[in-house]
Parts: sequence; C-alpha cells; structure tokens
Amino acid sequence: MKVNFHTHSTYCDGKEPIEKFVAKAVELGYNQLGFSSHAPVPFENDFGIKENEIPTYVKEIETLKAQNPFLQLFYGLECDFIPDMTKPFSYYQSQFGLDYIIGGVHLVRPENSDHIWFIDGSKREIYDDGLRDFFGGDVKKAVVRFWEQTFEMIETQQFDIIAHFDKIKMHNQKRYFTEKEEWYVRLVDHCVDLIRQKQLIVEINTRGIYKGRCPDYYPSDYALSLISKFGIPMVVSTDCHKSEELPLMRDEAIEHLKQFGIKYLMYRKNNQWEESPLV
Ligand SMILES: [Zn+2]
Ligand SMILES: [Zn+2]
Repeated sequence: MKVNFHTHSTYCDGKEPIEKFVAKAVELGYNQLGFSSHAPVPFENDFGIKENEIPTYVKEIETLKAQNPFLQLFYGLECDFIPDMTKPFSYYQSQFGLDYIIGGVHLVRPENSDHIWFIDGSKREIYDDGLRDFFGGDVKKAVVRFWEQTFEMIETQQFDIIAHFDKIKMHNQKRYFTEKEEWYVRLVDHCVDLIRQKQLIVEINTRGIYKGRCPDYYPSDYALSLISKFGIPMVVSTDCHKSEELPLMRDEAIEHLKQFGIKYLMYRKNNQWEESPLV
C-alpha cells in the first residue's frame, strides 16, 4: 500500500491547492492520500485553516473523491494541543465528520503563562528567543514542558496519529542538549509508554530530513527501537506542503523501519486502521 496521511495544502500553510497533491499521488501510483490541514488555534495566525473554511475543505475533497476512483482520499486535521487554549480534538471530529486526526505540539505554553513558544518553522532564532525569554534560557525546563504538553495531549485528547514525535529536537541541532542524556531518555520512555497504552499510531516523519532542518527522522532511533519492541503501529508521513514533496524520503524511511524490525504499516480500510505488511 502506498499511502500518505500527513498532507497540507493552501487551506493552511501548504503551498499548493489540494488538486495538485491528488494529481501527484495519481501520477506516483498512491493508493490512499489523506489531507491534514493545521486546525484552527485561538489567536491570529497564517498557518491554520479557518474554522468556517473546513466545510469547503471537506466538500472539495469529497468532489475529488468522486473523480478519482483509483485513489482513495481522506480528510483530517493536524490538531495542535495547547493546554487551556485549544478546543478539544473531539469537537472537530464530531462537527466535521473527519476521517482521522493527527495530534501534535508545535506551540509550547510555559507553565502559568500566556506566552507561546513556537518550536517549528524555518527560523531557529524564534526557538532561541523563546528559550531565553519564556524559560530564562533553562533548556531542560523548556524541553520538559514540550514533553509534558505532549503527555497531556495523549492523556486528554482523542486522535489517531501522533505527529513528529520529537519535534523539539529540530532547532536544538545538538546545541543545548543531547538525546542521550538520562533525563531526556526518561521523557521519551514515558511518551512511548503512554502511546502504547492509548493505542495510537506513530508516524515516521521525513520532513526534517528533506528540508535539511534535522539530520534524523522523527522519531529518533532510540524511540523507534521501543516502538518496534512494543509493536506500536506506524505510518510513513512526508508532511508535504508542496506536491513535489509527497514522495520525499518515503522509500528510505521504509528501509530504515525495516532495520528496526518493523513489519507493518497502517492504512485505512472500512473506516478503520488496518495493518499492511512491509515487504
Ligand atoms: Zn506538524
Ligand atoms: Zn504537518
């Protein structure tokens, strides 16, 4: 099965309209393509879909479904979780009848604060500035906050796939901490344990590599070894924002997963997730 469930478009911060991604998926012989616009967040921004545009988004994908009998299309959202700020993911699920939800943390809210630390995007300075201004430069405190927010998302929200598991490492670039430090390893352990309990799917996300922002996949090798050990289901996501990015590093990611003994990837069948053997 050739699938991708993490796809952006001009409905959010993607650079091309939905039909371009559909055409690319058809050209490359994909079986399934799922769209995952960034969900609305409760402040002015230029990356999320507007809530009043979600029905149009859904309708457009429904129309394209009818025109593409050999490519199955799905609509979801990539929902951000910010404690006490974002709407419950279940609201979007029930309001718009989504096929699935990807849950992820891009915006970290320091404890007892209304500041928001943006850890994603192309600008490393924004990460560095937030670390200094919102956490007094205490990297451990900041990184712990990212993971705590991720834990709270897993424990309180309903969703299918966890987005870019360890995005927090992206702008670190081995400058402030290493992923081998004991305190960091324990956070990863706990996160994988929660994912296992909640029976979530983990994506191996290739975007950091093909954008040249991060030398590793999300998640890093240590987490992948735990995911394999516990038999946690996975998908490969390119998190594409342009149609040409749809296949980038997908085949390499699959080879990488095989090295960890991963034997199945997930796809959609009869409105549920099913395993497809990795051959
Ligand atoms: Zn994301
Ligand atoms: Zn994304």
